[in-house]
Order: sequence, then structure tokens, then C-alpha cells
Amino acid sequence: MVGQTRQTSLREVRKALNANPLNPYVHIFKQLLENGKNGPLKGSAVARARFGSDMVLLKKQIAFNTEAQKNISTPEKVRDILLRDLATHKESSDAPVYSPIVDPHTGEWAMPADDEVAAKTLINGLLNKNYKTMGWIASLKSPVLDSMSTWPDYDKTHISQTGMETCIMPNETRINLQHQNETMAYINLLVGEIVWMIWPPIPDNIAKMQAAYDADANAKPEDPVGVNDFDDVALSLVGGVTCVHAPGEVLVVPPFCMMLGASTRPTAFVRYGVFQADRVVPTLRMMPFIKSWWTMEHLNQETRFSFAAALADTIKASLSGVLDDVLPEQFAVASAQRGERLGLMGNLVGNWDGVKDGLVEILREEHAEELRKTAKEFLGKVAETSWMCAICGKTPEEGVTMEDHFDMNHWPQGSLEIGYNEVEHGGQADDNAEAADQMEGVEREQDTREQAGPSTTTTLPLRQVSSNANILVDTEQMEGVEGAGE
Ligand SMILES: [Zn+2]
Repeated sequence: MVGQTRQTSLREVRKALNANPLNPYVHIFKQLLENGKNGPLKGSAVARARFGSDMVLLKKQIAFNTEAQKNISTPEKVRDILLRDLATHKESSDAPVYSPIVDPHTGEWAMPADDEVAAKTLINGLLNKNYKTMGWIASLKSPVLDSMSTWPDYDKTHISQTGMETCIMPNETRINLQHQNETMAYINLLVGEIVWMIWPPIPDNIAKMQAAYDADANAKPEDPVGVNDFDDVALSLVGGVTCVHAPGEVLVVPPFCMMLGASTRPTAFVRYGVFQADRVVPTLRMMPFIKSWWTMEHLNQETRFSFAAALADTIKASLSGVLDDVLPEQFAVASAQRGERLGLMGNLVGNWDGVKDGLVEILREEHAEELRKTAKEFLGKVAETSWMCAICGKTPEEGVTMEDHFDMNHWPQGSLEIGYNEVEHGGQADDNAEAADQMEGVEREQDTREQAGPSTTTTLPLRQVSSNANILVDTEQMEGVEGAGE
């Protein structure tokens, strides 16, 4: 399952880019290779250090075992699986899967007369290495591949996993600059070839990306939108690593990395994301960035709330002793013995004051209250043996209960902050966007598409755990996670 990692050299990337000089997306890659800020995936120690312990990896066959690999070993077999997935999708949903793309040469949209026909034609196009069209399938659920996959081993730290989805692109398609969401992405190429550039989520890069999201969110309708603005951002990012992604290889992309891709052949890949317990605190620290992205994407309030609720559920599960191998009443002794190695529970307690505001701001009020209750219960249980506050280490003054101490010192002050989205960015902005969508109809939809471009970033709410129940080996455990506080 875990294969050898492969190194990619600049020579290999240049060869892939030079194979088709007419590919309109080759230009930006050449600029990125020549601006002195990026290098090959087979990078220097400095380049690797920028990614820290979460380096981008290119591996062989991580998502499928040898037996399953036979079922996707040729473009014909992949095509057949995708056609089955398409048929399954069409049986159960009216939602279109095929998205038109603006022709970079003419600036025109290629709206398909029939979504299903266009999708089938594109999938069949995987057999023709020069096949081009102005559209793609950004995301098609793949129950067939789900059923064949081998998943990372489940353990207590493995909180959720998204189902497998495929992306199908004709030759010369670009995946616009975007960030990977809070999950670790596993992108398994099935057919074709993609050249990638992936940047580390270092503060400088994150700040540039966030500024671009904010500028885009505040752009007026008459402002020019689209890919060129983000090309400027891509050219300003530092520490990118480039590679050529070939069939049978899995690209592992750590959370919040920025990425840009271009197909150099008709290409299909399958991807899924894994969210682990040690990502809860780093994700909370990224809330300002995530909020900027939400605003740009006009993400609706319900999706925001469910993302926040899923995070809060995970935190409640941890503070209740469901996720870690330590119960709250054992916390004081365990933290003295193990220090920072005390899993999510220790991580949360150690960082509570720094991340609480960002989370509470985005929670629905009743979910915030549930979290507050769980946190107080946790502190109460810890104090039974240690007589002090687990978060700050102080013993409340005479006459002050631990609950009051928590409210006064470790909970956002002032009720206005709760329901941040409704009060400030909230409901109002979204309602306006929705109303505008309805008024402007298709035209507006096209604008949004052009602005967002082909995208693999979904920042799925964590609650949308995989459709594949098999990954949840320990069902009881996951019910604890999912069900806590519901
Ligand atoms: Zn305290």
C-alpha cells in the first residue's frame, strides 16, 4: 500500500512542458520555473525545510492494492469505471457533472447542449491522447473506486475521510491556483499526465493568498476577474516544488498547501482527503484564512455552520476522553508525565486560549453552548485530582467556582462574538449574493465559474465523512465522534 516515493527533476518537468508548446498553460509554468522562487520536487534541504514534516510526496499505488490496481491498469478500464459512476450519478441526481470552461484563445464559453452527452464524450476522450474540449468534470463521486480502495489504517487520530471522487480533464486543462483544504489530500492519477507546482503554507504565502481572496471578494462586477489575477499571486509565492504526475502515482498534498496544475494529456485522477486529530488546532489557527476563502466563494451559512459544528464535535469528543487514551480525570497526571505528547486533548488544552475565539465566532449559538458545557465538565474532572485549572494552571480564588473561572478567563467575552457570521459577514452578505444570483441567472453563474476556475478545493465540512462505511473500522468509536453532543 505505501509505495516508494519518487523524485522529480526539473529536466523531467521541462520535457513535459516542451512536449506541447501550444498548450496555453505552459507559459505560466515556465515563468514559475524561471523566477527563482521555485524548484523541483527533488528539492534542496532548504526547500524541504519550508514544508517541514509535511512534505509533498509522489508515491506509487497508495490508494489501491495490487489486485485492485489491475482493474484500473488501462485507460479503457478506467473509462468503463467512470462511465458506470456517471450512470450511477445520473440515476440518483439531476445535478450536472460537466462544467464548461472559458476558451483561453477566444474568451467564449462552450455551453454543452446536453450535460450527460458532454460528460460521456469527455470520458471516452481519455482514450485519445490529443483529445481537447472546453469543459471538464471537476468532481464525480466514485462508488466503484471506493469499493476497490485500500484506505490508510484507521486509528484514533484518524477523524474523518472523504469519499473518493474523480476529476476528468481533456488535454490542456488548467487547475487554477488554489489551496488544499484542511485535509491531507491523496491524489491518485489513473490516466494521463499533470504538471503540478505546489507551495508550502508558510506565513508569507498564506498572507499573499489571503490578500488575493480578499481582493477578489471585494472586486466590483465591472472589474476584470479570473485567472490572470491569480497568476500574479502564483508568481509571488515562494518555495514551490514542481513535478510530473504519472498514472499509478499518488500525490500527497499536505493541508493548506497552494497548488497549480495543468494537464498535458486527457487526464483522470481520483482523490480523497484525510483529516487527523493533530490537524484540529492548526485548522483553528487558519480560521482567518478560511473565512477569507468562504467569503470569496460565497459559501452559504449552513455549510459554514456544519464545518464549525464538526470541529466542535471533535473537540468535545476529545475533551470527553473518547478520542485519546486518557480520560479527563487522568489528565493532570498524564500531562505531567507525557507533556506535549498527550494527543489532541493535550494539544487543545495547551492552545485553548489562542484558538477559542476563532471557533466560537463561527459556531451556531447552541453548539457554542454545548462546547462551553463540555469544556467546563472537563475542567471540573481535571480539578478533582489537581485542584487547578487545566488551561492556565491556576487555582480559582476562594469562592470562585471552576465554571466561573472558565467563563471569566477562557471563554470569549461578550455575546456579540458568538454567531460572528450572522452579525458581521453573515446572513446579510449571503442573502445579497443569493439574491444577485437569482437576478442575474446564468450570467452570474458564469462569472463565478470564471472567477473560481477549475477547482479541486472544496474545504468539505468534516461532517461529510466518507460515503464508504468500510473505512470506519471502529464504528462505535466513530459514533462517539460523530454523535457527541448531537
Ligand atoms: Zn484557567
